[in-house]
Amino acid sequence: MAEDGAVKVKQIGKYKVEVIRSKCISAGSCEAVAPGVFALDEEGIATVISQDGNSDEDKLLAAQSCPTDAIVVTDTETGEQVWPKV
Ligand code: SF4
Repeated sequence: MAEDGAVKVKQIGKYKVEVIRSKCISAGSCEAVAPGVFALDEEGIATVISQDGNSDEDKLLAAQSCPTDAIVVTDTETGEQVWPKV
């Protein structure tokens, strides 16, 4: 717990990833590249199991490996979308 009472969320890197479920076609490459971050759920759709399971580099590589650009990567320091390129 931080001094101001806010709960500090453990975060290794600065990239946040999100899966747009409607775009996911269950290709599984995100899980193969970053298995600590992505896992396919019972419907075969990728979900984020942890933001800290892999490095920023691997999270970005996983997003770039997605054939449908279903993974959005945001830099939490700048608020900018890193991937897909806008
Ligand atoms: S790589 Fe993309 S399409 Fe494949 S499981 Fe992950 S999010 Fe879904």
